[in-house]
Amino acid sequence: MTAKILDGNALSAKLRASLRHRAAELAAQGCRPGLAVILVGENPASQVYVRNKIKACEAVGVHSEKYEFPADTPPEKVLNKIAALNADPKIHGILVQLPLPKQFDEDAVLEAISPEKDVDGFHAENVGLLAQGHPRFISCTPYGIMEMLKSEGVSLKGKEAVVVGRSNIVGKPMTLLLIGASATVTVCHSQTRDLAFHTRRADILVAAVGRPKMITGGMVKPGAVVIDVGINRLPDGKLCGDVDFESAKEVASLITPVPGGVGPMTITMLLANTIEGAVRAAGK
Ligand code: NDP
Repeated sequence: MTAKILDGNALSAKLRASLRHRAAELAAQGCRPGLAVILVGENPASQVYVRNKIKACEAVGVHSEKYEFPADTPPEKVLNKIAALNADPKIHGILVQLPLPKQFDEDAVLEAISPEKDVDGFHAENVGLLAQGHPRFISCTPYGIMEMLKSEGVSLKGKEAVVVGRSNIVGKPMTLLLIGASATVTVCHSQTRDLAFHTRRADILVAAVGRPKMITGGMVKPGAVVIDVGINRLPDGKLCGDVDFESAKEVASLITPVPGGVGPMTITMLLANTIEGAVRAAGK
């Protein structure tokens, strides 16, 4: 069997076209959606991510503001900016690009963002709402994965789902969404004893680890849906995922590539969350 490839670029283009339409409607009603992005330091990967997010905003008609601070900025300065943005009616989403320099308490910064503008879904209040099954903002990567599964009509009810990775950004919210969709979920991490034992049972396998090609075809159940969140740079400069795409695609029924899979969907859901924030702010 050779798997069907789940093209995140194509699905993103489709979703962004409808988001563009929604943003224009809101703008016509005097509530143009707005996103503020805060970048601290000169991390080259973060600079690329922020540039891509701003470009995506422009392309769908979401107003964007970028605030850059040098790496040695005292945390109070960034917290003051967040407080000003919390009170700014033009802004419906606030995103602080992670990681932050070491003088910052990342949790404290994320908690300073108003939960009503927390479009990354990292605020404890939003994580709690997701855990209770009443999400306000869902973190963008797991949200994008759920949209990908929906677009292919993948049924989750009663299925065995295995999530490899338990980070707050991907693994944990992904787990909560899969439970909410009535899958039976196993979460694996660095202390899991026999990873392949678990992955081979998965009807839906989500890899979010950050280790190039660690999930090989032999670790995949025949016919499984394989979602590869990992973004790893190989010594030759090429990007690859956590899944060994070449061997896994011969076993899976559906698989996401890297690049061009989950990555573009993450930014698309950031736009969706910002527009959703604007809709709520406008009381529509
Ligand atoms: P983290 O480093 O925060 O988490 C990695 C997780 O993998 C941890 O839970 C860790 O376990 C687990 N892990 C590490 N080694 C193993 C192992 N040998 N076996 C099983 N589990 C292991 O990473 P993130 O969740 O932030 O990101 C994961 C990957 O996804 C990265 O490549 C990142 O670049 C990418 N990413 C891609 C996005 C996209 O839009 N496509 C968005 C966000 C991230 P433990 O908890 O025990 O340490």
